Amino acid sequence: MGSNIESILAAARSHTDEVIKPNVNAWNKAGVWPRDASDKAGALGLTGLFAPEEWGGQGLSLGDGIQVYEELGKGDGAYAFTLSMHNICTYATCGFGTDAFKDKWARDLTSGKKLANFALTEPQSGSDAANMYTRAVVNGDGTWTINGAKAWVSLAGEADIYFTVVKTSDEPGHKDMAMIAIPADTKGISFGPRYDTSSYEFLPLSEMYFDNVVVSEDNIIMAVGTGLQGALMAIDIARVSIAAGCCGLIESALDTALAYSKNRKMFKGVNLDLEGIQWMLGDVATDLVTSRLLYKAAANALGTPEGPLMAAHAKRFVPDAAVKAANTCTQVMGGMGLLQSYGMDRLSRLSQMLRIVDGTTEISRVVIGRALQKRAEGLPDIPVPKGYKEK
Ligand SMILES: Cc1cc2nc3c(=O)[nH]c(=O)nc-3n(C[C@H](O)[C@H](O)[C@H](O)COP(=O)(O)OP(=O)(O)OC[C@H]3O[C@@H](n4cnc5c(N)ncnc54)[C@H](O)[C@@H]3O)c2cc1C
Repeated sequence: MGSNIESILAAARSHTDEVIKPNVNAWNKAGVWPRDASDKAGALGLTGLFAPEEWGGQGLSLGDGIQVYEELGKGDGAYAFTLSMHNICTYATCGFGTDAFKDKWARDLTSGKKLANFALTEPQSGSDAANMYTRAVVNGDGTWTINGAKAWVSLAGEADIYFTVVKTSDEPGHKDMAMIAIPADTKGISFGPRYDTSSYEFLPLSEMYFDNVVVSEDNIIMAVGTGLQGALMAIDIARVSIAAGCCGLIESALDTALAYSKNRKMFKGVNLDLEGIQWMLGDVATDLVTSRLLYKAAANALGTPEGPLMAAHAKRFVPDAAVKAANTCTQVMGGMGLLQSYGMDRLSRLSQMLRIVDGTTEISRVVIGRALQKRAEGLPDIPVPKGYKEK
């Protein structure tokens, strides 16, 4: 498989058309992660997008590779999200893993034979990530012992390894955080009952518990003191990846509504002849163009000082546009929009999920707000009008 972005995008398109779209309803009914599908994605190079070729990856830049999720998002946003998390872990493995860890895991991850996920959230700490309890302590022989619990773990019980963010002391804050890759078969790992979700039932989600779990120091991905920084870097990539997936979702909603509306007879014409309908769908089309430009600009900014802010703009704007698009397109189709066979209900629920995962819309606003405060500091004071006195 070459590292040419056009060939990877074509592969993602065919994976969406041939594997995701025809099967996603059955996957949801079965409630099981479609491992055969992710194996096929691996064979196409979609599980090692950003990893160097020497480790079996595609060696794509973030700016190029993130476009893959737009293609996958046309099939299903939760599937695209899951592969994006796996790709981030694979990227972290090749970029930050020890030589021993890379030797053991990198090729199996880039090929998709083994799946990885990222575990940061805990029952008491979602947005407030620094408030985590999971603790890792170093032992005399250099190994680490981990105790604690993670929540909302995607691919729970299915992934082969979990890139877990931990604290290493009881000091408040994030200066003692680290990221450790914990293989699923390590003694002391267990999972809680599956969360009862809707519209992405094929994605197993649950809590994950660590009871005196011991791992080798080879598995440290981000050393003590850099765990939060590593998590934030991963989350910035994830935020832009989600925005890309949302563009696929918007396009899918728009095309379904158009395909229906052009044939729905009414008032001596068809639904799409109505100016009001054209305006509704026109707004969705404008949001799609805007969203696409935004996520691509954010993807190209990753790794630069502008990256976190651009990722926040993309994660703030695009999933909201997707929620609006799914609702508008459902409305355009009238009662038919509510039938499961058209999939609009699935898109509505997925778009809402994508507003929450990997940093909510509100957390993106917090990031943007802080940047605005900084910008304001650099601006000259505006003179107060004569005679105006603040109390
Ligand atoms: C389908 C799915 C899969 C997931 N997979 C993973 C995974 O694999 N790994 C992982 O680590 N996590 C995962 N998550 C967790 C996800 O990242 C969190 O749900 C998310 O960060 C929000 O945390 P929370 O749910 O605890 O909400 P909370 O943090 O409790 O927030 C509740 C509400 O308060 C708002 N809020 C928070 N802070 C502020 C503020 N300062 N100002 C205004 N409003 C605020 C939030 O926006 C939200 O509306 C997953 C979540 C979902 C839904």
